[in-house]
Amino acid sequence: MSDKDYIIIESGKAEQPFHYAVGMHGSKFFRELKDNRRFIGLKCPKCGKVFIPPRGVCGECFVEMNEWVEVGPNGVIGSFTILRYAFIDPETGQQKPIPYGYGFIKLDGADTLFQHYINIEDESKVKIGARVEAVFSKERKGSIRDIEYFRVVD
Ligand SMILES: [Zn+2]
Repeated sequence: MSDKDYIIIESGKAEQPFHYAVGMHGSKFFRELKDNRRFIGLKCPKCGKVFIPPRGVCGECFVEMNEWVEVGPNGVIGSFTILRYAFIDPETGQQKPIPYGYGFIKLDGADTLFQHYINIEDESKVKIGARVEAVFSKERKGSIRDIEYFRVVD
């Protein structure tokens, strides 16, 4: 099969606008990020684990959680990857600039991992267990993009 035998399907200029409710826990979480640059999670009354992003029910104890607690904004890298392969960002339709870091952060006081970008300006410092801090966007709109990225702190 030669290259000219492949069928190419293009989406053209189709857009896929969407809106969705983030729910009562997500709304409170994103409002805190936007208005106060604070991370808040929910604490399980039975096992004491703190979940972030917040969810209504502890997945281990099956009990409702109502106690809000502040966590972060610092934490440690639980795992990460550095993406070096170019691809089209489904959020923008543009090629995602590479390389960039992405990982799971265990915020201080939380028992779950929080996914976000990790600054890789100095790749040698990006390691599992490295201390990081959240860098907030100057203009916050109540979304996950209110955090620009996490960066390693010494
Ligand atoms: Zn629990």
